Amino acid sequence: MAYDANNIFARILRGEVPAHRVHEDEQTVAFMDVMPQADGHTLVLPKAPVENLFELDDEMAAAVMHTVRRVAAAVKTAFDADGITLMQFNGPAAGQTVFHFHMHILPRHADRPLRGHGRTMADQALLAEHARRIRAALDAGG
Ligand code: 5GP
Repeated sequence: MAYDANNIFARILRGEVPAHRVHEDEQTVAFMDVMPQADGHTLVLPKAPVENLFELDDEMAAAVMHTVRRVAAAVKTAFDADGITLMQFNGPAAGQTVFHFHMHILPRHADRPLRGHGRTMADQALLAEHARRIRAALDAGG
């Protein structure tokens, strides 16, 4: 499948659609998932137009993982999480719904199950507050 330049993440990257950003550098962006499976659910994506894992080159993969490590540490601190789950889907059969490569960062607490994937829209003010907490943890060094 050819990369669709009008997918929702491409539009967020171009600034056409708002998102609660927590991090941005030359190669990657991180923002809050609008239908979080846990409070603090954050997405990390490369700026380059790649649809899935198989189109990611080694340099992009390294840049994404560098950001994932930093943001995951900040999410863990910001949400006082017991652990972090990383998720990443490739292709509709695997559950991918947005066709721009991204990693999911999910803070986990013992005995707290995840909510459904892409199920319930969160309140925008709440997402803004969650993003603020993650940015503060990043500013404090993770
Ligand atoms: P996938 O199923 O492709 O791995 O995950 C796509 C994710 O993007 C889902 O968790 C979904 O909640 C999230 N999502 C869908 N539309 C938007 C949007 O407009 N903005 C943001 N920030 N996240 C979105």
